[in-house]
Amino acid sequence: MCGIVAYIGNREAYPIVMKGLRRLEYRGYDSAGIALIDKELLVYKCKGKVDDLEYFIGTQNTLGNIGIGHTRWATHGVPNDVNAHPHYSQAKDLTIIHNGIIENYNAIKKALTLRGHTFTSDTDTEVLIHLIEDIRNNAKVDLVEAVRLALNEAVGAYAIVILSKDNPNQLIAARKSSPLVIGIGVDEFFCASDATPIIEYTKNVVYLNDEEIAVINRGEELKIITTKNIAKTPYVQELELNIEAIEKGGYEHFMLKEIFEQPRSIRDSIRGRVLVDQGLIKLGGITEYSQKIVNAKRIIIIGCGTSWHAGLVGEYLIEDLARIPVEVEYASEFRYRNPIINEDDVVIAISQSGETADTLAAIELAKSKGALVYGICNVAGSSIARTTHAGSYTHAGPEIGVASTKAFTAQVAILTAFALSVAKQRGTINESRYQQLLIELDTVPELVEKVLLQSDKTKAIAAIMKDAPNSLYLGRGYSFPVALEGALKLKEISYIHAEGYPAAEMKHGPIALIDEEMPVVVIATKGANYEKVVSNIQEVKARKGIIIAVVTEGDEHAALLADYIIEIPESDECLVPIISVVPLQLLSYYIAVMRGCNVDQPRNLAKSVTVE
Ligand code: GLU
Repeated sequence: MCGIVAYIGNREAYPIVMKGLRRLEYRGYDSAGIALIDKELLVYKCKGKVDDLEYFIGTQNTLGNIGIGHTRWATHGVPNDVNAHPHYSQAKDLTIIHNGIIENYNAIKKALTLRGHTFTSDTDTEVLIHLIEDIRNNAKVDLVEAVRLALNEAVGAYAIVILSKDNPNQLIAARKSSPLVIGIGVDEFFCASDATPIIEYTKNVVYLNDEEIAVINRGEELKIITTKNIAKTPYVQELELNIEAIEKGGYEHFMLKEIFEQPRSIRDSIRGRVLVDQGLIKLGGITEYSQKIVNAKRIIIIGCGTSWHAGLVGEYLIEDLARIPVEVEYASEFRYRNPIINEDDVVIAISQSGETADTLAAIELAKSKGALVYGICNVAGSSIARTTHAGSYTHAGPEIGVASTKAFTAQVAILTAFALSVAKQRGTINESRYQQLLIELDTVPELVEKVLLQSDKTKAIAAIMKDAPNSLYLGRGYSFPVALEGALKLKEISYIHAEGYPAAEMKHGPIALIDEEMPVVVIATKGANYEKVVSNIQEVKARKGIIIAVVTEGDEHAALLADYIIEIPESDECLVPIISVVPLQLLSYYIAVMRGCNVDQPRNLAKSVTVE
């Protein structure tokens, strides 16, 4: 959600900032803008994509070796040219780019209006830069101090970068609850919402912490102070990311690349953790807390969107194998509904980006009640990774496609390893099943590889489904969350209305929707509920629905009833979600492509949801 890029150094800033904005396009946005200093402060911004911005700038002046750029995901004010960032101060000598929300902007705006400020946009962001200007002018302090004082007044979330016409040698950046990374090169600095725009220039980065302000002066060392005016020593980390990981590598879309990467990403998520040779599981990030986890009275899993679906699979796994009661909650509901959290609860927070605003707030709530919080996220150094007590990185690699694919399977792989490890320690699984599941989990990457070999078949089914206005996804047991995830994928990228349902619940409502036009995707793999799902297929057939069934290789029963089938290799029931979700990802992908949708950047969606 929203992209921030900034550069100060000896090179031309414009190409670096524009390329950086393109790298951040995956995060989702609706308008773009840039500010540069070439003696004058140059600001260009417009509604639309970075390409539109480039077209709008055309042959206008883009010189200067300091610049800030922004892709906006509107929260306050419609996406239009005026509301796009950067925003000016009253005297137009300062500009700001901002990710997040200033919650008390209205009160500040009223006060500033009484003091003679006029505003051109509807944004909260413009109010913040006017406030900074007002403090600087009236308290007679320098810009850094004015920023600090203003941030003490602002309530909400922000990642900001400020550029001052009078000081072409300085960038001021700050963050609270919205990510910001600073890249340190030789005589140059970069700022960005994540490391992707920085990686091709330097591997040395500093992740800004909440309520820290970075003062970046040309030719000087990076300075960091907190909003309480305490100096901090920048902690420089080396990025492990490489440039190939953030490029398409010959695939038409990032999403397709990421779907096909899954044998590798699942392998990376279990490597060094599922140790078949030694017959054990080692989750390094939780060892210290293993007693607390093993003795937990209850596990609460929190997440949003796809991560919430991974959490549901986690619930089935943990209850089934480790016999600890599990509740799965939307982070956004959990944080606001005064939940009961005890000190002997363990909270598992799942987030691809590690920056999901609602999940972060829910974590803080859980921590304040004394619960142990275990984070599962994909982005190293992210806020969730830093704020949780214990954690496991999914190691899926950068996920650029907005619709999550490889992050989901990696999350479920980790949850499987977690459930198995806890089950073993609690003695709720017998040794032979434990060893068997270890071996099977280790072979999941190969099974996913096999599923991917059938992508052409899935494409042919996509051609049949592509014009349907609605669709249903059904599953039971371990396959219920997969049905939800399959439906979400379709909605997200193809804009076809899709409902995921527990197959048996269909009778309590959605069955009314079924007619000869309605595609019904059923996950009918072998397992405890197989016969029951077959009955549900019969019920759909009896009402002339079109059945697309995901079945176990060699199945004859469900396969015969279905109009179209996708086979997946046999595995233990508790491992099926990681495998059966893959054809559903492919199905959505091909349908979206056939419908001419922007697969990697679906409308209205953002990759990393950093506002609540
Ligand atoms: N709240 C700001 C706006 O609506 C920033 C949105 C963003 O994070 O892109 O302009």
